[in-house]
Amino acid sequence: PLLVNQIAAGEVIERPASVVKELLENSLDAGARQIVVELEQAGIKRIGVRDDGSGIGAEDLALAVSRHATSKISSLHDLESVASLGFRGEALPSIASVARLEVISREPGAEHGWRLSADGTDCAGEVAPAAHPVGTSVEVRDLFYRVPARRKFLRTERTELGHIEQLIRRMALARADVGFRVQHNGRELFDLRAAPESEPLSAHACGERLQTLLGETFVQHALEVDEQAVGLALSGWVARPAFSRSQTDLQFFFVNGRMVRDKLVAHAVRQAFQDVLHHGRHPAYVLYLQLDPRQVDVNVHPAKHEVRFREGRQVHDFLFRSLHRRLAGSCEQGGAQ
Ligand code: ADP
Ligand code: MG
Repeated sequence: PLLVNQIAAGEVIERPASVVKELLENSLDAGARQIVVELEQAGIKRIGVRDDGSGIGAEDLALAVSRHATSKISSLHDLESVASLGFRGEALPSIASVARLEVISREPGAEHGWRLSADGTDCAGEVAPAAHPVGTSVEVRDLFYRVPARRKFLRTERTELGHIEQLIRRMALARADVGFRVQHNGRELFDLRAAPESEPLSAHACGERLQTLLGETFVQHALEVDEQAVGLALSGWVARPAFSRSQTDLQFFFVNGRMVRDKLVAHAVRQAFQDVLHHGRHPAYVLYLQLDPRQVDVNVHPAKHEVRFREGRQVHDFLFRSLHRRLAGSCEQGGAQ
Protein backbone atom coordinates (compact mmCIF):
# COMPACT_ATOMS: atom_id res chain seq x y z
CA PRO A 1 0.00 0.00 0.00
CA LEU A 2 2.90 2.39 0.59
CA LEU A 3 3.92 2.28 -3.07
CA VAL A 4 0.36 2.71 -4.24
CA ASN A 5 -0.03 5.63 -1.85
CA GLN A 6 3.09 7.26 -3.17
CA ILE A 7 1.90 6.88 -6.74
CA ALA A 8 -1.43 8.32 -5.74
CA ALA A 9 0.32 11.10 -3.88
CA GLY A 10 2.14 12.00 -7.06
CA GLU A 11 -1.20 12.87 -8.55
CA VAL A 12 -2.60 14.74 -5.59
CA ILE A 13 0.40 16.12 -3.74
CA GLU A 14 2.60 18.10 -6.03
CA ARG A 15 3.77 20.80 -3.63
CA PRO A 16 2.97 22.25 -0.18
CA ALA A 17 -0.01 24.14 -1.61
CA SER A 18 -1.58 20.79 -2.63
CA VAL A 19 -1.46 19.65 0.98
CA VAL A 20 -2.97 22.91 2.21
CA LYS A 21 -5.72 22.61 -0.39
CA GLU A 22 -6.69 19.08 0.66
CA LEU A 23 -6.64 19.95 4.37
CA LEU A 24 -8.69 23.11 3.89
CA GLU A 25 -11.23 21.25 1.78
CA ASN A 26 -11.57 18.67 4.55
CA SER A 27 -12.09 21.40 7.14
CA LEU A 28 -14.74 23.06 4.99
CA ASP A 29 -16.40 19.67 4.36
CA ALA A 30 -16.53 19.25 8.15
CA GLY A 31 -18.47 22.50 8.46
CA ALA A 32 -15.68 24.55 10.03
CA ARG A 33 -16.35 28.25 10.71
CA GLN A 34 -12.82 29.07 11.86
CA ILE A 35 -9.67 27.70 10.29
CA VAL A 36 -6.11 28.40 11.41
CA VAL A 37 -3.22 27.58 9.10
CA GLU A 38 0.36 27.60 10.38
CA LEU A 39 3.24 27.23 7.97
CA GLU A 40 6.97 26.84 8.38
CA GLN A 41 9.32 27.19 5.44
CA ALA A 42 6.44 27.63 3.03
CA GLY A 43 4.90 24.43 4.34
CA ILE A 44 7.84 22.22 3.48
CA LYS A 45 8.87 21.90 7.11
CA ARG A 46 5.42 22.12 8.62
CA ILE A 47 1.77 22.66 7.72
CA GLY A 48 -0.69 22.81 10.58
CA VAL A 49 -4.40 23.19 9.91
CA ARG A 50 -6.78 23.50 12.85
CA ASP A 51 -10.54 23.72 12.51
CA ASP A 52 -13.68 23.83 14.63
CA GLY A 53 -15.57 21.39 12.41
CA SER A 54 -17.42 18.20 13.23
CA GLY A 55 -14.32 16.16 14.05
CA ILE A 56 -13.47 12.50 13.47
CA GLY A 57 -14.28 9.65 15.85
CA ALA A 58 -11.67 7.18 17.06
CA GLU A 59 -12.67 4.38 14.67
CA ASP A 60 -12.88 6.66 11.65
CA LEU A 61 -9.52 8.21 12.44
CA ALA A 62 -7.60 5.07 11.59
CA LEU A 63 -9.64 4.57 8.44
CA ALA A 64 -9.17 8.15 7.36
CA VAL A 65 -5.38 7.92 7.12
CA SER A 66 -5.12 4.39 5.75
CA ARG A 67 -7.93 3.98 3.32
CA HIS A 68 -5.71 2.32 0.75
CA ALA A 69 -5.02 -0.49 3.17
CA THR A 70 -8.58 -1.65 2.69
CA SER A 71 -9.02 -0.30 -0.79
CA LYS A 72 -9.71 -2.33 -3.85
CA ILE A 73 -6.84 -0.72 -5.66
CA SER A 74 -4.29 -3.46 -6.18
CA SER A 75 -2.90 -2.86 -9.63
CA LEU A 76 -1.75 0.02 -11.75
CA HIS A 77 -4.75 -0.55 -13.93
CA ASP A 78 -7.08 0.10 -10.99
CA LEU A 79 -5.02 3.09 -10.08
CA GLU A 80 -5.51 4.60 -13.52
CA SER A 81 -9.24 4.23 -13.36
CA VAL A 82 -9.27 5.88 -9.96
CA ALA A 83 -7.01 8.67 -11.19
CA SER A 84 -9.68 9.80 -13.59
CA LEU A 85 -11.99 10.39 -10.65
CA GLY A 86 -9.42 12.62 -9.03
CA PHE A 87 -8.53 10.35 -6.13
CA ARG A 88 -11.29 11.41 -3.87
CA GLY A 89 -10.97 9.88 -0.47
CA GLU A 90 -7.23 9.49 -0.82
CA ALA A 91 -5.86 12.78 0.37
CA LEU A 92 -4.84 11.85 3.91
CA PRO A 93 -3.33 8.46 2.98
CA SER A 94 -1.47 10.17 0.15
CA ILE A 95 -0.11 12.85 2.47
CA ALA A 96 0.88 10.18 5.00
CA SER A 97 2.88 8.41 2.30
CA VAL A 98 5.06 11.44 1.55
CA ALA A 99 5.28 13.23 4.92
CA ARG A 100 4.87 12.79 8.65
CA LEU A 101 1.20 13.15 9.45
CA GLU A 102 -0.50 13.63 12.78
CA VAL A 103 -4.23 14.07 13.24
CA ILE A 104 -5.89 15.01 16.52
CA SER A 105 -9.63 15.29 16.52
CA ARG A 106 -12.60 15.48 18.80
CA GLU A 107 -16.25 15.05 17.95
CA PRO A 108 -18.95 17.11 19.65
CA GLY A 109 -20.16 15.27 22.73
CA ALA A 110 -16.99 13.21 23.07
CA GLU A 111 -15.19 13.36 26.41
CA HIS A 112 -11.84 13.88 24.80
CA GLY A 113 -10.11 13.78 21.48
CA TRP A 114 -8.02 11.13 19.75
CA ARG A 115 -4.60 11.32 18.22
CA LEU A 116 -3.12 9.33 15.40
CA SER A 117 0.30 9.61 13.79
CA ALA A 118 1.24 8.09 10.49
CA ASP A 119 4.48 8.40 8.63
CA GLY A 120 4.10 6.29 5.57
CA THR A 121 4.24 2.92 7.26
CA ASP A 122 1.49 0.50 6.34
CA CYS A 123 0.11 0.42 9.83
CA ALA A 124 -1.09 3.83 10.79
CA GLY A 125 -0.18 3.23 14.43
CA GLU A 126 -2.27 3.36 17.56
CA VAL A 127 -5.10 5.75 18.14
CA ALA A 128 -4.51 7.32 21.54
CA PRO A 129 -6.60 9.65 23.69
CA ALA A 130 -5.56 13.30 23.51
CA ALA A 131 -6.78 16.65 24.74
CA HIS A 132 -8.35 18.72 21.98
CA PRO A 133 -11.30 21.08 21.58
CA VAL A 134 -14.13 19.99 19.26
CA GLY A 135 -12.72 19.96 15.76
CA THR A 136 -9.59 18.72 14.08
CA SER A 137 -5.89 19.55 13.96
CA VAL A 138 -3.78 18.11 11.21
CA GLU A 139 0.01 18.43 11.29
CA VAL A 140 2.08 17.64 8.24
CA ARG A 141 5.84 17.74 8.70
CA ASP A 142 8.83 17.22 6.44
CA LEU A 143 6.98 17.06 3.17
CA PHE A 144 8.59 14.70 0.64
CA TYR A 145 11.26 13.56 3.10
CA ARG A 146 10.62 10.07 1.78
CA VAL A 147 10.59 11.22 -1.84
CA PRO A 148 13.82 13.14 -2.43
CA ALA A 149 13.20 13.24 -6.18
CA ARG A 150 10.01 15.18 -5.64
CA ARG A 151 11.59 17.38 -3.04
CA LYS A 152 14.13 18.43 -5.63
CA PHE A 153 11.35 19.77 -7.82
CA LEU A 154 10.13 22.21 -5.21
CA ARG A 155 10.85 25.79 -6.11
CA THR A 156 12.06 28.48 -3.74
CA GLU A 157 10.26 29.08 -0.48
CA ARG A 158 8.94 32.31 -1.93
CA THR A 159 7.40 30.57 -4.92
CA GLU A 160 5.85 27.81 -2.84
CA LEU A 161 4.45 30.35 -0.39
CA GLY A 162 3.03 32.28 -3.34
CA HIS A 163 1.11 29.19 -4.42
CA ILE A 164 -0.27 28.79 -0.92
CA GLU A 165 -1.29 32.44 -0.70
CA GLN A 166 -3.07 32.24 -4.04
CA LEU A 167 -4.91 29.12 -2.88
CA ILE A 168 -5.99 30.87 0.32
CA ARG A 169 -7.22 33.83 -1.73
CA ARG A 170 -9.40 31.53 -3.81
CA MET A 171 -10.80 29.67 -0.85
CA ALA A 172 -11.37 32.76 1.27
CA LEU A 173 -13.11 34.56 -1.61
CA ALA A 174 -15.35 31.52 -2.10
CA ARG A 175 -16.20 31.25 1.60
CA ALA A 176 -16.62 34.63 3.27
CA ASP A 177 -18.65 32.87 5.96
CA VAL A 178 -15.52 31.14 7.24
CA GLY A 179 -12.73 32.81 9.20
CA PHE A 180 -9.19 32.14 8.02
CA ARG A 181 -6.02 32.91 9.97
CA VAL A 182 -2.78 32.15 8.23
CA GLN A 183 0.71 32.40 9.70
CA HIS A 184 4.06 31.82 8.11
CA ASN A 185 7.17 31.31 10.26
CA GLY A 186 5.24 32.85 13.14
CA ARG A 187 4.29 35.96 11.16
CA GLU A 188 0.67 36.68 10.28
CA LEU A 189 -0.17 36.57 6.57
CA PHE A 190 -3.95 36.86 6.68
CA ASP A 191 -6.49 37.28 9.44
CA LEU A 192 -9.91 37.13 7.85
CA ARG A 193 -12.93 37.45 10.08
CA ALA A 194 -15.90 35.25 9.23
CA ALA A 195 -18.85 37.20 7.89
CA PRO A 196 -21.51 37.55 10.59
CA GLU A 197 -24.69 35.63 9.75
CA SER A 198 -26.60 38.90 9.52
CA GLU A 199 -24.29 40.46 6.96
CA PRO A 200 -24.60 39.62 3.27
CA LEU A 201 -21.53 37.71 2.15
CA SER A 202 -20.87 39.96 -0.79
CA ALA A 203 -20.81 43.09 1.35
CA HIS A 204 -18.42 41.45 3.76
CA ALA A 205 -16.15 40.18 1.03
CA CYS A 206 -16.23 43.63 -0.50
CA GLY A 207 -14.93 45.29 2.60
CA GLU A 208 -12.28 43.74 4.72
CA ARG A 209 -11.66 40.56 2.86
CA LEU A 210 -11.31 42.01 -0.61
CA GLN A 211 -8.89 44.59 0.71
CA THR A 212 -6.77 42.04 2.56
CA LEU A 213 -6.71 39.54 -0.26
CA LEU A 214 -6.48 41.73 -3.35
CA GLY A 215 -5.04 44.95 -2.01
CA GLU A 216 -6.24 48.48 -1.55
CA THR A 217 -5.77 49.59 -5.15
CA PHE A 218 -8.03 46.83 -6.42
CA VAL A 219 -10.74 47.89 -3.99
CA GLN A 220 -10.35 51.54 -5.01
CA HIS A 221 -10.84 50.61 -8.64
CA ALA A 222 -13.50 47.98 -8.10
CA LEU A 223 -16.78 48.32 -9.97
CA GLU A 224 -19.53 46.29 -8.43
CA VAL A 225 -21.26 43.85 -10.77
CA ASP A 226 -24.78 42.65 -10.13
CA GLU A 227 -26.58 41.32 -13.18
CA GLN A 228 -29.36 38.86 -13.73
CA ALA A 229 -30.77 37.01 -16.70
CA VAL A 230 -33.09 34.04 -16.92
CA GLY A 231 -31.45 31.35 -14.79
CA LEU A 232 -28.17 33.26 -14.50
CA ALA A 233 -26.84 35.69 -11.92
CA LEU A 234 -23.48 37.42 -11.94
CA SER A 235 -22.12 39.38 -9.00
CA GLY A 236 -18.76 40.56 -7.77
CA TRP A 237 -16.23 43.15 -8.90
CA VAL A 238 -14.20 44.07 -11.92
CA ALA A 239 -11.38 46.55 -11.68
CA ARG A 240 -11.99 49.83 -13.49
CA PRO A 241 -10.08 50.06 -16.76
CA ALA A 242 -7.57 52.43 -15.15
CA PHE A 243 -6.43 49.67 -12.86
CA SER A 244 -3.79 47.72 -14.62
CA ARG A 245 -1.63 45.03 -13.22
CA SER A 246 0.77 43.10 -15.33
CA GLN A 247 0.23 39.92 -13.36
CA THR A 248 -2.54 37.58 -14.34
CA ASP A 249 -3.19 36.47 -10.80
CA LEU A 250 -6.06 38.78 -9.95
CA GLN A 251 -8.62 36.76 -11.84
CA PHE A 252 -11.07 34.89 -9.70
CA PHE A 253 -14.18 33.35 -11.15
CA PHE A 254 -16.53 31.19 -9.13
CA VAL A 255 -19.32 29.06 -10.54
CA ASN A 256 -21.82 28.16 -7.86
CA GLY A 257 -19.20 28.93 -5.23
CA ARG A 258 -16.48 26.89 -6.85
CA MET A 259 -13.38 28.45 -8.33
CA VAL A 260 -12.98 27.73 -12.03
CA ARG A 261 -10.40 28.59 -14.63
CA ASP A 262 -12.34 28.17 -17.80
CA LYS A 263 -11.61 29.08 -21.42
CA LEU A 264 -15.16 30.14 -22.22
CA VAL A 265 -15.30 32.38 -19.16
CA ALA A 266 -11.86 33.86 -19.78
CA HIS A 267 -12.78 34.55 -23.38
CA ALA A 268 -16.03 36.31 -22.53
CA VAL A 269 -14.31 38.51 -19.94
CA ARG A 270 -11.40 39.35 -22.20
CA GLN A 271 -13.74 40.21 -25.08
CA ALA A 272 -15.70 42.60 -22.89
CA PHE A 273 -12.55 44.41 -21.75
CA GLN A 274 -11.17 44.50 -25.26
CA ASP A 275 -14.36 45.80 -26.76
CA VAL A 276 -14.60 48.68 -24.32
CA LEU A 277 -10.93 49.52 -24.00
CA HIS A 278 -9.60 48.43 -27.38
CA HIS A 279 -6.64 46.71 -25.87
CA GLY A 280 -6.05 43.49 -24.04
CA ARG A 281 -4.52 44.33 -20.72
CA HIS A 282 -4.89 41.68 -18.06
CA PRO A 283 -8.28 42.28 -16.53
CA ALA A 284 -8.63 41.96 -12.76
CA TYR A 285 -11.84 40.59 -11.34
CA VAL A 286 -13.62 38.61 -8.65
CA LEU A 287 -16.85 37.29 -10.10
CA TYR A 288 -19.49 34.91 -8.87
CA LEU A 289 -21.77 33.20 -11.37
CA GLN A 290 -24.80 31.37 -10.06
CA LEU A 291 -26.84 29.05 -12.20
CA ASP A 292 -28.89 25.88 -11.97
CA PRO A 293 -26.39 23.14 -11.03
CA ARG A 294 -27.90 20.99 -13.75
CA GLN A 295 -26.71 23.52 -16.29
CA VAL A 296 -23.05 22.96 -15.50
CA ASP A 297 -20.74 19.99 -15.13
CA VAL A 298 -17.99 20.86 -12.66
CA ASN A 299 -16.34 17.46 -12.75
CA VAL A 300 -14.90 17.59 -16.24
CA HIS A 301 -11.43 18.06 -14.85
CA PRO A 302 -11.58 18.91 -11.16
CA ALA A 303 -7.84 19.44 -10.77
CA LYS A 304 -7.73 21.87 -13.68
CA HIS A 305 -10.80 23.79 -12.50
CA GLU A 306 -12.49 23.28 -15.84
CA VAL A 307 -16.25 23.24 -16.21
CA ARG A 308 -18.66 22.54 -19.02
CA PHE A 309 -21.79 24.61 -19.44
CA ARG A 310 -24.77 23.02 -21.11
CA GLU A 311 -25.65 26.32 -22.74
CA GLY A 312 -22.16 27.60 -23.29
CA ARG A 313 -23.16 30.19 -25.87
CA GLN A 314 -25.80 31.64 -23.57
CA VAL A 315 -23.41 31.85 -20.60
CA HIS A 316 -20.74 33.44 -22.75
CA ASP A 317 -23.13 36.08 -24.09
CA PHE A 318 -24.49 36.84 -20.63
CA LEU A 319 -21.00 37.35 -19.20
CA PHE A 320 -19.91 39.44 -22.15
CA ARG A 321 -22.99 41.66 -22.13
CA SER A 322 -23.00 42.12 -18.34
CA LEU A 323 -19.35 43.13 -18.15
CA HIS A 324 -19.44 45.17 -21.30
CA ARG A 325 -22.31 47.23 -19.96
CA ARG A 326 -20.61 47.74 -16.61
CA LEU A 327 -17.26 48.76 -18.08
CA ALA A 328 -18.73 50.99 -20.78
CA GLY A 329 -20.95 52.67 -18.17
CA SER A 330 -17.97 53.45 -15.98
CA CYS A 331 -16.06 54.98 -18.91
CA GLU A 332 -18.92 57.36 -19.73
CA GLN A 333 -19.42 58.42 -16.12
CA GLY A 334 -15.89 59.01 -15.08
CA GLY A 335 -14.01 59.86 -18.24
CA ALA A 336 -10.99 57.62 -18.25
CA GLN A 337 -11.78 56.43 -14.74
P1 ADP B 1 -12.13 12.76 1.41
O1 ADP B 1 -12.11 14.15 1.93
O2 ADP B 1 -12.14 12.73 -0.07
O3 ADP B 1 -13.20 11.89 2.00
P2 ADP B 1 -9.59 12.60 2.76
O4 ADP B 1 -8.46 11.63 2.67
O5 ADP B 1 -9.30 14.01 2.44
O6 ADP B 1 -10.74 12.06 1.81
O7 ADP B 1 -10.20 12.51 4.20
C1 ADP B 1 -10.62 11.27 4.69
C2 ADP B 1 -11.75 11.39 5.69
O8 ADP B 1 -11.26 11.88 6.91
C3 ADP B 1 -12.85 12.33 5.29
O9 ADP B 1 -13.82 11.71 4.50
C4 ADP B 1 -13.42 12.75 6.63
O10 ADP B 1 -14.34 11.78 7.08
C5 ADP B 1 -12.23 12.69 7.55
N1 ADP B 1 -11.63 14.01 7.74
C6 ADP B 1 -10.47 14.48 7.20
N2 ADP B 1 -10.21 15.73 7.61
C7 ADP B 1 -11.22 16.08 8.43
C8 ADP B 1 -11.54 17.27 9.20
N3 ADP B 1 -10.74 18.35 9.18
N4 ADP B 1 -12.67 17.26 9.95
C9 ADP B 1 -13.48 16.19 9.98
N5 ADP B 1 -13.24 15.03 9.29
C10 ADP B 1 -12.13 14.98 8.52
MG1 MG C 1 -10.57 15.40 1.41
